[in-house]
Amino acid sequence: MARCTKCQTEWTFKDKAGVFKSLSGSVKCPYCRAEQFLSLKAQKQTGLVNMIIPVTMLLPLPFGLPLPLHITLIVLGIITVVILNITLVKLSGKKEYII
Ligand SMILES: [Zn+2]
Repeated sequence: MARCTKCQTEWTFKDKAGVFKSLSGSVKCPYCRAEQFLSLKAQKQTGLVNMIIPVTMLLPLPFGLPLPLHITLIVLGIITVVILNITLVKLSGKKEYII
């Protein structure tokens, strides 16, 4: 559940996807125009979730998986990562950094 820290409006899946489309990592609330950032917790979760991609690339190698199947697995991994990242979006009113 992602709510704007200013107007407390619940963001839709599409609103949350906008966070990843912006390069600066900040996005304006579609309801009150307040600037919102990805929270520290969500940034950490995103980092972990992104690990799924290299895993789908490397894990099948010892099993000699046929290439088309391997590529399908990678594509499914990328789709899973994108959906999970958007689902896990939590908003913060200020920029938070992972140190
Ligand atoms: Zn708002």
